Amino acid sequence: MIQVGSPAFIGKEREYVLDCIDRVSISGGRYVEWFEDSFAEFCGSKHAIACCNGTAALHLALIGLDVQPGDRVLMPVLTYIATANAVRYCGAEPVFCDVDPDTWCIDPSAAGRQLELARREGKRISGIIPVHLYGVPCDMDALQNLAERYDCWIVEDAAEAHGATYRGMKTGTMSEVGTFSFFGNKIITTGEGGMVVTDDDGIAARVRLMRGQGVDPERRYYHRVVGYNYRLTDLQAAVGLAQLETFEEHARARKDLGKEYRKRLLLNFQMQAVTIGACSAEWVTTIVFKKSVEKERVVSELNVLGIETRPFFYPVNQMPPYKSKESFPVAENLSRLGLILPSHYRITLEQVEEICAVVNG
Ligand SMILES: *Cc1c(COP(=O)(O)O)cnc(C)c1O
Repeated sequence: MIQVGSPAFIGKEREYVLDCIDRVSISGGRYVEWFEDSFAEFCGSKHAIACCNGTAALHLALIGLDVQPGDRVLMPVLTYIATANAVRYCGAEPVFCDVDPDTWCIDPSAAGRQLELARREGKRISGIIPVHLYGVPCDMDALQNLAERYDCWIVEDAAEAHGATYRGMKTGTMSEVGTFSFFGNKIITTGEGGMVVTDDDGIAARVRLMRGQGVDPERRYYHRVVGYNYRLTDLQAAVGLAQLETFEEHARARKDLGKEYRKRLLLNFQMQAVTIGACSAEWVTTIVFKKSVEKERVVSELNVLGIETRPFFYPVNQMPPYKSKESFPVAENLSRLGLILPSHYRITLEQVEEICAVVNG
C-alpha cells in the first residue's frame, strides 16, 4: 500500500532515542529543551514551547491569550477539526468564514465581513485563527490589517506549514502566537507532538505553566491554577530534534515531489495557488476535480492499485458539534471535489508516473 503520508527518518533519530534510553531519561529532559531551543532558532522566535500534540498547542495558545468562555473566535470553515475544538475547550465559540477560491486559505474579505457584522450586532470577535492550509501561508498582511482595525489577536495554525514563509517571515511568527503539529503525517514528526511559538514573555510563561499542570515554578507540588498535562516526552523530542536537523532535506523532498506531480498532471484540474509574497511548504499535493464522478473514479482506481488518497476536510459547520445552516460555497465545493495525492519522502518518480496516469485518465 502506498500511503498518503508517512514519516522518514534520515538523521540521528535512532542515535538520539537510544541515548534517551541509555541515560534513562524518557519523560521530560534535555532533548525537550534542545528541541525547543532549536525550533525557536528555526522559526526565529523568542520562545518555543513543546507539547504533546498540535491540538494541545492550539489550546495552550488560546489559554496564553486568556481566551474566556463566551469569547468568539474567527477561523476558516475549511480546516481540521482541531482548530475549532481548541476554541471550544476554552468554552469559546468558533465563528466560521469561507476560504479564498484560489489559495483555499481564509478569505480576508469574507473575514472582514464577519468582523464587521459581529461589530454591528455587538457580538465582538476577539481573535482570528488563520490556518496555513496544506502548507500555503495565508494572506497575513490583509489579516493583520483586519486584526488592527477590529482589535483582534491572531494565532496562526501552522500545523501543516513548517518552514513556509510569507514576505520572508516564517509561518507561526507573524502574530501573537503560532502553533505546530508533529503528527506522523506532517513535514517533520515526533509521532505525536506540538509546539507553541511566541515572542511574548507573558504568553510564553503562561503556556509553560499550563502545559505542566499549573505547578508554581518556585514551589514544587504547589498549584495556583488548574493546568493540563500537555508535556512532550524526551523520546519524542529526541526524534523531533533529529527531524529538525534534517529539515532542509524533508522540505526539499516535498517541493520536488510537488514539482514532479505538476509536470505530469493535465491542466483540467484546479491546483492550490500560493498567496502573493508567500513560499509554500508544499506539505501535500492536492487536486480539485471538475466533477465528483471523476474524483470517485480516481479514488477507486488508485485504491485497486494499492494507492491511498485522502479527501479534503468537511467544512467544520457540516459536522454535529458545530452544525450551522450557514453556507460557505467555496469551501463546500473544494471539500466535495478535492483530493490529496500521496505526498511523502519515499514516493518515487515511478509512483508519481503511475498515480498521474490514473488521475489524468
Ligand atoms: C494536524 C493539524 C492540527 C493538529 O493536530 P494534532 O493531530 O493534534 O497534532 C491542527 N490543525 C491542522 C490544520 C492540522 O492539520
